[in-house]
Amino acid sequence: MNRLIRRKFGEVYRLKVPQRNFCANGAATNSAQPGYSQDSKIGHYDIAIVGGGMVGMAFACSLASMPLTKDLNVAIIDSNPALSSGVSIKKEEPPDPRVSTVTPATISIFKEIGAWKYIEQNRHAYFDKMQVWDYTGLGYTRYNARDANKEVLGCVVENRVLLSSLLSCLQSADFRKTIYPSRLLTLHRNSSSTKVDSHSSGLPLHGQGNLVKLDLIDGSSLHAKLVVGADGSKSRVRELAGIKTTGWNYSQNAIICTVEHAVENQCAWQRFLPAGPIALLPVGDNFSNIVWTMNPKEANDHKMMNGDEFIKDVNHALDYGFGPHPKSSMFGDGGIFSWLKADVTSASEFFEIPPKVIRLVSDRMMFPLSLMHANNYASKNIVLIGDSAHTVHPLAGQGVNLGFGDAFALSRVIAEGIAVGTDIGEVTMLKKFEVERKTANIAMMAILDGFQKAYSVDFGPLNILRAAAFHVAQHVSPLKRGIISYASGEQRLPLFS
Ligand SMILES: Cc1cc2nc3c(=O)[nH]c(=O)nc-3n(C[C@H](O)[C@H](O)[C@H](O)COP(=O)(O)OP(=O)(O)OC[C@H]3O[C@@H](n4cnc5c(N)ncnc54)[C@H](O)[C@@H]3O)c2cc1C
Repeated sequence: MNRLIRRKFGEVYRLKVPQRNFCANGAATNSAQPGYSQDSKIGHYDIAIVGGGMVGMAFACSLASMPLTKDLNVAIIDSNPALSSGVSIKKEEPPDPRVSTVTPATISIFKEIGAWKYIEQNRHAYFDKMQVWDYTGLGYTRYNARDANKEVLGCVVENRVLLSSLLSCLQSADFRKTIYPSRLLTLHRNSSSTKVDSHSSGLPLHGQGNLVKLDLIDGSSLHAKLVVGADGSKSRVRELAGIKTTGWNYSQNAIICTVEHAVENQCAWQRFLPAGPIALLPVGDNFSNIVWTMNPKEANDHKMMNGDEFIKDVNHALDYGFGPHPKSSMFGDGGIFSWLKADVTSASEFFEIPPKVIRLVSDRMMFPLSLMHANNYASKNIVLIGDSAHTVHPLAGQGVNLGFGDAFALSRVIAEGIAVGTDIGEVTMLKKFEVERKTANIAMMAILDGFQKAYSVDFGPLNILRAAAFHVAQHVSPLKRGIISYASGEQRLPLFS
């Protein structure tokens, strides 16, 4: 089968070689990167980033921002036309339904690498308040950024704005990059043909050692000392590197869309319903983003039903639907925890009803949800970042933030390696990255999976326990501060500390 596919793509390769279109630093061609089939003319790079999504581009920007890595010679492979021709964002159009809640930790790193100023030129929505409750009416928690001495809890940004900002950031950097508008087909590692003189293309490469040869579906090829798989949850790099994964499907789909209110929404809302959570996130102006998780049949029905019916269901789900509004009196006003609650202002905030949705202003999109974790992130000359290494339930909006964490950690580890003369494909160096990020990612995955499971069961005693958990989180200051800090991207776990 594989051989068949390769033979098929071999034909494409022969047909397409003369039409290849490279863009370096935004230019249409790069004579230094001929990429023809003869090995001596194939482009040679320090790093090939497979996947120019949000995480791959954040990694490139991070490399471009550091003195020790900004001279690396980098190829980015992705067939997304936005990478060559830019992302079209019209301010008069409603926000795209694909958005990400970015944490304060991500915001500060974006500022550090010079990408946040481009986000600020486009629509984005900071929020400093969040309310979480469930359908039983037994409890709620309100979070306020001030509880943890922060200005914001996060910022909701359209994915296309994140990508376009990273592209602008990279464009403005003095950084040697080549964009291959194609997709990875195969990798060849440790073959003698991949050992080349590092100056054979006239481009200095950092360190010596084996190169990996990457064959792309348009027939072009390139060599790189390090291949970074940033190619999403169905990662071809992961598959070709033989890296196994652990995980499961949640038997839940998420429906996402953009909706409009009569007034501006300034709070992030999340209500746990019997089939999964519904989130209403501010996205700027009078718009909000909906992420509604439910079983696949319900999700399909909600995707197909007419827009007015859907909005009726959304308002129902965010208000009295499935159960009453919670009251703050179930466990008193902090009761046994009163000695711990003194200094968080949100402990005395009352439950609020989210602003009514008046209109659906985008298509509804549906995504199956799963948890996936790569057993290894790194092997010789190959490393995985972002969704290629892990996917999580979107209930706390952490997925791409974990990916950004990988991107920044990997670029830092590479800089440290260069500082001491380590080969950038060296597995011991890449394993340092793996150890650091596995610890952070697995901890977050375990917490999110625990939440998903705890809120998927409708069982009397568990409902009471959940209510108690809401109540403790609402009233106990150190825990509340810990939760806010952890969700903001700080690595400390939300314990009493
Ligand atoms: C409903 C939903 C809501 C979410 N909300 C949030 C949120 O609020 N906050 C948050 O942090 N996260 C959120 N996430 C998760 C977030 O969207 C992902 O973690 C993020 O998109 C991963 O980015 P990535 O760059 O790793 O991968 P991707 O976005 O999947 O990008 C992969 C890139 O690789 C390219 N590619 C694929 N195969 C190849 C190949 N063979 N060769 C070359 N290129 C290739 C693709 O074209 C693509 O550009 C949500 C996810 C879902 C499903």
